[in-house]
Amino acid sequence: MQIEEQYLEQAVRLHQSCPVVDAHLDLAGELLLHVNNGERDVLRRHYLEELREGGFNLVVSSVYLENQYLPEMGLRMAMDQIGVLLEEVDRNEEFLLVKTARDLDRALEEDRIGILLYLEGMDFMGTDFLLLRTLWEMGVRGASLTWSRRNALASGCCVASRRVPVPGGLTDEGVEAVRRMEEMGMFLDVSHLNDDGFEDVCAVAEKPFAATHSNSRTIYFNYRNLTDAQLRRLAERGGVAGLNGCSYLVGCGQGDEALDWLCSHAEYMAASVGADKVGYGFDFCDAYDNAKPRSSWEENHNDCLVSHRHVPRLTAALLQRGMKEEDVKGIIGGNWVRYFRRMLPK
Ligand SMILES: [Zn+2]
Repeated sequence: MQIEEQYLEQAVRLHQSCPVVDAHLDLAGELLLHVNNGERDVLRRHYLEELREGGFNLVVSSVYLENQYLPEMGLRMAMDQIGVLLEEVDRNEEFLLVKTARDLDRALEEDRIGILLYLEGMDFMGTDFLLLRTLWEMGVRGASLTWSRRNALASGCCVASRRVPVPGGLTDEGVEAVRRMEEMGMFLDVSHLNDDGFEDVCAVAEKPFAATHSNSRTIYFNYRNLTDAQLRRLAERGGVAGLNGCSYLVGCGQGDEALDWLCSHAEYMAASVGADKVGYGFDFCDAYDNAKPRSSWEENHNDCLVSHRHVPRLTAALLQRGMKEEDVKGIIGGNWVRYFRRMLPK
């Protein structure tokens, strides 16, 4: 679709005046790649301008570990990612680590960019739940039980992005992990969890859980996306689902066609369970992949939107296709702010 100027202006105005949230970015891992490459002041040099232009107030940063570091190097890599993120946030006053609901409000009031730290998969912990307490003290405020892998707690939804389902729900230790996380005050993310695991979470969880970066499986079939029933159950419990911008979960390539696909996911999800249960969780991967040491010169292009700077174009597309401004305000960030205010310690 071609974006008309009036909608782009309306979107930019909303992004500059309302809370804007990206509920999933592999920021800690990406920072570590840059720092290990000899760079310093990476948040300012690589992210600040993009996030400011997109009007972002909160970014949920995952601690994500690649297969080759597991199991032996997992804990060490996780500690390094958290360390580098804390150091970068400390060094840069434009950013703020969000550990409480008050921190979130401060980020909004002081026009700073809040960073909320969470674990994308707990593979590196095994079943050592004492580590949860340690991680809490470091500022970690949420976790998914697993990435697309099987671990001691649960099974991932599929073999990475291949359309191969993996059966089997939470282990006893996985159930225990959910219980301990809720007791401690960590939010639970079900993106990447398999269907059996989702059922088990519904039976075990007492607090609202989220899907930080998953689309609709009805709009585009991939086991990483949520079925209608899953979306409904997540919403009934007060959770929010974040719209993922990776092309293999959206169903398209880049460019204007991608905006229509993303809008279709957002509109379908909003129509199914309410616009107040949908947010943004783009999972931008290209910058991460391109920061890795490469064996070939080829650039990666998996993201439907080019970067945070381009997110107002999607917001404009939602407005142009007829979504009400009130609903759009929630989707760009209001819904996540409400969710995290509820989940974070006061
Ligand atoms: Zn992910």
